[in-house]
Amino acid sequence: MAAILSKIKTEAEGTLRLLWKKIDPNDLKPGDHIYSHRRYGLYSHHGIYVGDGFVIHFIQTETKNNVLRLPKAEKFAHRPPCPKCLYDEYKDLGVVRTCLDCFCCHEEKLHSIRYFVYGAPRVGLLLKKSGTCTTLVSSRTANEVVEEAYELLRSQGFGEYNLCQNNCEHFATFCQTGKKLCTQMSFYHDLEEWVKRRIS
Ligand SMILES: [Zn+2]
Repeated sequence: MAAILSKIKTEAEGTLRLLWKKIDPNDLKPGDHIYSHRRYGLYSHHGIYVGDGFVIHFIQTETKNNVLRLPKAEKFAHRPPCPKCLYDEYKDLGVVRTCLDCFCCHEEKLHSIRYFVYGAPRVGLLLKKSGTCTTLVSSRTANEVVEEAYELLRSQGFGEYNLCQNNCEHFATFCQTGKKLCTQMSFYHDLEEWVKRRIS
């Protein structure tokens, strides 16, 4: 029993170390599933690192001007394309390949990058925040993950962006495992169910 508990403790500690580790971009390897927090960690943006400082990730499939049908839209000045990767936030849609800075930049700030953990022990999930890990095991080699990401970029074959059913986390987990998974959405769904049970 003591040996099992000690094994669980070691696994949970290993997962937590990875979850809280901010990544040094020099440590990244092609095929890594990474994410960057948005709005103080309320949600996160996910992608697949493909080497040489580039990330393939899935963003809105509608232009900002269509999404923001608001008078406020004018206040978003059209920034020129990124000099490093030529990413143009007003033109590029769907599956995109950008530099790390464009991946982790949100509202003019660069946010830290973290590893999404596969094969996390269940006990680790009790301590996790949503969008950071899964008990699912990544079934593909790093090369296969990178190839899948490039294939989806070439074909633009990931469909329409949908916050609940087809988002950036679905894209990255699909490249890793062939399955679309979104721990962020399942977390909020569970939370909603829990609140409903409390108030009914
Ligand atoms: Zn860039």
